[in-house]
Amino acid sequence: MTDANCIFCKIIAGQIPSRKVYEDEHVFAFHDIAPWAPIHFLIIPKLHIPSMAQLTTEHAALMGHMMTLAPKLALQEGCNPYPDGGFRIVLNNGTEGGQEVHHLHMHVMGGSRPWLRG
Ligand code: 5GP
Ligand code: ZN
Repeated sequence: MTDANCIFCKIIAGQIPSRKVYEDEHVFAFHDIAPWAPIHFLIIPKLHIPSMAQLTTEHAALMGHMMTLAPKLALQEGCNPYPDGGFRIVLNNGTEGGQEVHHLHMHVMGGSRPWLRG
């Protein structure tokens, strides 16, 4: 299921170019166009799910897949290994949660320490 007006569905379809990090049957990962950290990419489901608010138990394996992919892709993209290296996951939900693109996405951010706050 895709949404013809969704910018991330268009990225998955290749209608909008992106710097791809990873792709399989269920997910797509690409570099954020306006990074907040030295390494910043997004992992998104190929299914158009607007946010976590629409998740059901049927999406549990998909969300687990995205979670377990994150550390592997972080290393692939140049994050140093745990425990001295690492990365941060952010999942914004809804306008008050800071979500601007309403296709569920996991931010993976890492690199050198100074960018990190809180
Ligand atoms: P949100 O605020 O919804 O959690 O984050 C959306 C993210 O998508 C932002 O960090 C923004 O920079 C990124 N983004 C928005 N449009 C594009 C695009 O066309 N290409 C890429 N690569 N990233 C985008
Ligand atoms: Zn979408």
